[in-house]
Amino acid sequence: MPGPCANHPGVEATKTCAGCRREFCEGCVVDLGGWTYCGSCKNAAVAASQNVQEFKLPREALTYAIVGIFCCGIILEPIAIWKGLDALNQIKRNPQLPGKGTATAAVVIGSIFLLFNIGYLGLVMTGNLARFR
Ligand SMILES: [Zn+2]
Ligand SMILES: [Zn+2]
Repeated sequence: MPGPCANHPGVEATKTCAGCRREFCEGCVVDLGGWTYCGSCKNAAVAASQNVQEFKLPREALTYAIVGIFCCGIILEPIAIWKGLDALNQIKRNPQLPGKGTATAAVVIGSIFLLFNIGYLGLVMTGNLARFR
């Protein structure tokens, strides 16, 4: 014998929420990616999946790293490294976040081209100094 819906004491429960395992009537649940959720669990599940999708930090970091190869590397590469490390930290705390490889690539590319830029800047500056002497 199924019990009553958790929201409607007079209505027979036919569904079980995949989140909280409570029983609900047909009208109280929604299907989400093949799972049955009650209203509050649906909101939590949607918020969680949006968090994962909105985690753009690794791609952002890589964009800075790649743009920095072509221009303003002395400014953009440190941003790429900083964003990449921030992303890696967040992934460490929350392993379901995507983009670990992307964030690592951003840090590696950022470091290489930051050094390259510092070296280039050094050459330019010593070159200029030599010219002024
Ligand atoms: Zn639920
Ligand atoms: Zn109900």
